[in-house]
Amino acid sequence: MVRKIPQQQRDEEKKKRTRKKKSKQTITCAVPHIRLSEANPGKLEALDQLVVVYQALCQQYVTLWCTTDDIPDGYAPPVFASQLSDRWHRVAMQQAAGIAKSWRTNRQAAFDAYLEDLADYAQAIAKAEQSGIPLDPKRKEPVWREWNVPELRVPCIQATANVVVLEPSEDSTFEYWLRISTLDKGHPLRVPVKFSAYHTQALAGKKLNTSTTLCKRNGCWWLTLSFDEDVALRTEKDAPRVGVDVGIANFLTTSTGKQYGTFHGELARRHRRDREKRRHKAKLRACLKKKGVAKLPSTSSVTGQRLSRHVRQEINRAVALMLQDHPEARIVYEDLSVASMRFKARCMNAYLYASNLAHMPEQIKWATAKRGMAANTVKAAYSSQECSRCHDVDRANRVSQQTFCCVYCGYQDHADHNASLNLASRWGDQELAACQNKGQIKALLLRRHEGCTQLFGLAVVQPAVQLGLWNDPPTSTDVV
Ligand SMILES: [Zn+2]
Repeated sequence: MVRKIPQQQRDEEKKKRTRKKKSKQTITCAVPHIRLSEANPGKLEALDQLVVVYQALCQQYVTLWCTTDDIPDGYAPPVFASQLSDRWHRVAMQQAAGIAKSWRTNRQAAFDAYLEDLADYAQAIAKAEQSGIPLDPKRKEPVWREWNVPELRVPCIQATANVVVLEPSEDSTFEYWLRISTLDKGHPLRVPVKFSAYHTQALAGKKLNTSTTLCKRNGCWWLTLSFDEDVALRTEKDAPRVGVDVGIANFLTTSTGKQYGTFHGELARRHRRDREKRRHKAKLRACLKKKGVAKLPSTSSVTGQRLSRHVRQEINRAVALMLQDHPEARIVYEDLSVASMRFKARCMNAYLYASNLAHMPEQIKWATAKRGMAANTVKAAYSSQECSRCHDVDRANRVSQQTFCCVYCGYQDHADHNASLNLASRWGDQELAACQNKGQIKALLLRRHEGCTQLFGLAVVQPAVQLGLWNDPPTSTDVV
């Protein structure tokens, strides 16, 4: 039988984690890419054999949890038979649960966004019929395309100390032994782990976590070690809050009116060059394939990977600059999934893949934790359509990607700045936090809007008189 961790113990662990959060934050630092090359080649064969079985089982659970209503739970009783030991089986289930959970969350967010789009569309149709003004022919009914179930391609094991143990070595030529349980019970694999100067320095005096990650890339096995670090929280309780809106035209826009990083200009140019290169390569491949050439050029793009890395660096830099400018602030940002981002920036879909948008909230979370700064996520629904002055929620308020102009009170602002103001004000908003779905949020905001109009007696203005108030950046087609 696979060992099951009792519920009580899990609850206690959870409590411990939340208790820790209050005075300090624990961040996990990973030290990647320690090559397992010191062993003679034959030795790692046992690991190669293991990972084939491991990955197949992991995939079975991922598929199960992404295609049925079963909730992904790494502690659930196993349902598939496997050659793996009970301990390895448990590790595979936990890794699969992690993958399935994030996939399901992202898919659900995308599906919710689609439903919301659909409702908007139906409303627009009804309005058009009522008023007799035909609907914009460019506006199409939203279509849902079902997501593919994640496919595990790169051999990767997120191991616990139950199956992979790091032991200090007595030998002076390398630092650790990695003891790996294999398919052959009672015959673990022992691989020496040798640090480079960089690893020795990065890990000096650190207490290593017992969990390890093993990945195989380009025929080599790589080990990732990690350690936890406690950082004292130094943001004051009543610190001024700064809302941060995440986007493409501007990576970060703060409620203090500053902007950091952009995907326009140089990054967009590089992205376009990469896309052309890929298209060309695909054509070449198709042509060679037709002619029956056996060895086809690879489809993976080195420039694409390099570009992706570069975008991440740019994001990291933007986040660092933003935090440098607001060292005493509490950062309030939106809990953004890639899926909802796709809808937020629909006219720039092509940019999305390369821009690694999901990296932005992750980097904000990590960089603030590292500096001991408080950062909180808030619900982001309608933050880009809501007027920060009168709370009117209307798609028409967003006259363009860049410009916000409230159809009700006439408030004009840069669209991202307006959104960042909304986000900042949402921190500590219990009523909004209690909303279960987007519909409830919209109803709440519109109720507040009603209250505002009665209070100030605001007058209706003609919608969007001042198009192009802000200099819109060039679109993807005319970037030079
Ligand atoms: Zn308004």
